[in-house]
Amino acid sequence: MDYINIIKKMTLIHCARGPVRCNKCSKLEKQGEKYCLIKVFLKAGNIARPMTEIVLNNEKMLCEFDVVDVFKDKKDAEYYALKNGIMIIESRHFS
Ligand SMILES: [Zn+2]
Repeated sequence: MDYINIIKKMTLIHCARGPVRCNKCSKLEKQGEKYCLIKVFLKAGNIARPMTEIVLNNEKMLCEFDVVDVFKDKKDAEYYALKNGIMIIESRHFS
């Protein structure tokens, strides 16, 4: 298994440059945190993707990810998680 799908409450990132160096990233950051369906790559790829922190088997990992979908609210995210057996990570767990 090279990747997993999880839902994470996070600030959207447009690219690997981040909000400091990229205008589009900066705009997304100002929208605040959203529940996102993300594809997390467990092995490093060749494309410079943004990174996110996840916990898998009690192990904290920094992984590359792609945003697959953005949910409109928490209820929407929870419904999808339940239906598809996907875990939800609230970003505050890491701070
Ligand atoms: Zn960007």
